[in-house]
Amino acid sequence: MNIHEYQAKDILKKFGVAVQNGIVADTPDKALAAAKELQQTTGTKWVVVKSQIHAGGRGKGTIRETGSRGVVLAKSLDEVVEKSKAILGGTLVTHQTGPAGKKVSKVLIAEDVYYPGESEPKEYYMSILLDRATSKPVIMASTEGGMNIEEVAEATPEKIIKEWIDPAYGLQPYQARKVAFALGLEGNAFKEMVKFIHSLYSAYIGLDASMFEINPVLKTSDSKILAVDGKVNLDDNALFRHKDLEALRDISEEDPLEVEAGKSGLNYVKLDGNVGCMVNGAGLAMATMDIIKLSGGEPANFLDVGGGANAQTVEAGFRIILKDPNVKAILINIFGGIVRCDRVANGVVEAYKKVGDIPVPIIVRLQGTNAEEGAKIIRESGLKVFSAILLKDAAKKISEVLQ
Ligand code: GDP
Ligand code: MN
Repeated sequence: MNIHEYQAKDILKKFGVAVQNGIVADTPDKALAAAKELQQTTGTKWVVVKSQIHAGGRGKGTIRETGSRGVVLAKSLDEVVEKSKAILGGTLVTHQTGPAGKKVSKVLIAEDVYYPGESEPKEYYMSILLDRATSKPVIMASTEGGMNIEEVAEATPEKIIKEWIDPAYGLQPYQARKVAFALGLEGNAFKEMVKFIHSLYSAYIGLDASMFEINPVLKTSDSKILAVDGKVNLDDNALFRHKDLEALRDISEEDPLEVEAGKSGLNYVKLDGNVGCMVNGAGLAMATMDIIKLSGGEPANFLDVGGGANAQTVEAGFRIILKDPNVKAILINIFGGIVRCDRVANGVVEAYKKVGDIPVPIIVRLQGTNAEEGAKIIRESGLKVFSAILLKDAAKKISEVLQ
């Protein structure tokens, strides 16, 4: 689950991470009130108006309707109102949102932390994520902050510092010092960075997060270290341990079909292809998507109906797949291990009748316990459904119907 920058900063603060202060607002009037309050509490002269969407690249992104950038500096209270008006309700298009963009319904009014002083403010990059190859959390940091980190990794991989943490021992003080040193920091900034890394790591572990990306981490002109941005990805499998975090979910940022599938207990991921698929088991679902590609199609989704494929789950699956206008055919691929193929076949027939006239061809491949009986039920149902037992026959059928 992803959360907004303003939510991430609130949580990080509770773990002792120093952040750029801000107040969230959903109207220009509230943005103005927020700016006044920030000026009083932080003494900031200017404020930044930051679009809150679940995507990065906001600073360089554009609001389609007004041409405003997604993150802008406001140098007066009038500008706060004017600039919030140009952002709120608009559609922000960034390199991460795709051309459709995302609707902005909230802005974070934040203190300006790039104020002038003894030295130039300097941006750093920092993330913590799970490195699956070593089964350890890894802290990644770079002096090339504020940039697209994928480009840094591509062009100058030596500029990315990596420090792996043994989860049994946790982050060791020498490791935080090593990262701060590698970033070239000294004096107060060094000390603050060490503390920043410790707090950030304790937040990462405490929240059961799967990814933190703070880009930029800022060294202010008076050598303070602050999180200016905060991308936080929480591990869905651990959300049951964090009821309070579940409340931070913003469904309007998620794909509506995925939300609906979640309600039916289906594991569904929307994709851009033309062949819908319904499978039991994640591994078989991935193999099925490969088969679709080999047959000349493109998978329209990933859908794992789980171990107990029955009429209800199949019906819910049908309904969700059919809401995707790109779908030209549906492949149902079920392995009858625990569940028997004849029961699944009956479920498919029952669900088909309930959903009504399905406008696209359906290929049902049932293999495993009672596969023959299952195929017979499909054949004799009188419905426009093709039956296959071998995957290669199912693949051939897909190629035919896509012609
Ligand atoms: P992103 O573009 O979605 O990654 O959003 P960020 O939160 O990283 O902000 C984008 C950019 O806005 C930053 O890289 C900074 O250059 C700029 N920015 C953010 N906060 C401030 C601020 O307090 N003052 C100034 N002048 N610029 C800021
Ligand atoms: Mn950023």
